[in-house]
Amino acid sequence: KNNKTTMTNSEEKAIELDGSQGEGGGQILRTSLALSVVTGQPLAIEKIRAGRAKPGLMRQHLACVKAAAEISGAQVEGAELGSQSLRFAPGPVRAGDYRFAIASAGSCMLVLQTVLPPLLLAGAPSTVHLTGGTHNPMAPPFHFLERAFAPLVRRLGADLQLMLRRCGFYPAGGGEVEATIVPAVGALQPFDLMARGAQQSAHAECLAPGLPRHVPTRELDTLGTAMGWSGEQLRFGTARQNEGPGNALIATLAYEHVTEVFTAFGEKTLSAEQVAHGLVKELRAFQKSEAAVGPHLADQLALLLALAVWQGRKTAAFTCSEVTEHTRTNCAVIERFLPVRFTITESRAASTVQVSLA
Ligand code: AMP
Repeated sequence: KNNKTTMTNSEEKAIELDGSQGEGGGQILRTSLALSVVTGQPLAIEKIRAGRAKPGLMRQHLACVKAAAEISGAQVEGAELGSQSLRFAPGPVRAGDYRFAIASAGSCMLVLQTVLPPLLLAGAPSTVHLTGGTHNPMAPPFHFLERAFAPLVRRLGADLQLMLRRCGFYPAGGGEVEATIVPAVGALQPFDLMARGAQQSAHAECLAPGLPRHVPTRELDTLGTAMGWSGEQLRFGTARQNEGPGNALIATLAYEHVTEVFTAFGEKTLSAEQVAHGLVKELRAFQKSEAAVGPHLADQLALLLALAVWQGRKTAAFTCSEVTEHTRTNCAVIERFLPVRFTITESRAASTVQVSLA
């Protein structure tokens, strides 16, 4: 298999993927687009989101396809709303200054998730200006990427700096994020992340622009009581009223070796107390485990470490509190593009994900 990053590969045989495999969601598409650009291997994906209520490519997935095509000059077939099949033949990745907008309130952080791996391996730094949702359910929120994910990118020897200019929530969107992506000098360096280390701090902040003050007050009070956190650990987040209406309750746990961020989202059908209890459940599950990272950081770290193992020709491993279907599926998709193998060992205290050269 040819894994050179620089050649145009439109004549090369495409990697064929079933988009409904495993977790069967948008992540299969985003990871395969990212790795198609990284390796230059064309991608043919069928049954995209076939098992979902609204199958096929939705607006936010199309935004990811277009972004991946723009940074690589790809030839694309099937990039239409509702399409369940896509052909994508990339050219070489081009560092640059990019602007990607999602007209609906789709998550612009998922667009970043798509273009980040190739731009991390490009020959020069890039800036990416994103507009859309910054705090969406079922997507990495801005603060998670800034505090939990970006430091791990830096540990690989590259850099990711993120600036939140404006929050965007469903359904209005309109958020704005600036990302600066700087490739490593030489290869990305894999690392092991087996333990979180001693806790250094814990705090929560509540974003509730455009909502009455009693909403964040009740969420923070409920969280504080359940977790035994003091007033100093419970903060009203900074968002301007016109960035709403929207609500995200964000907990940041800083440890010696890793920072984790857990987020609960307000919805019209949930009380403030229910939002807080949802977050408490996630925090307790993580605190009970001995693992370094939680379920979401796990699936996203798997891709970063696979790239570093491929480039740095060493193994890497991490422990996680839970091996989700997202993590399993992401690992399976990564194995189709990169010459790496994942070994997942599940255990109650902490599961281990190991990645090595195939
Ligand atoms: P998908 O559901 O296939 O579109 O993928 C969703 C992606 O967003 C996965 O990488 C998840 O780990 C990530 N994600 C979802 N919720 C969160 C969250 N609360 N914090 C961080 N990442 C998240």
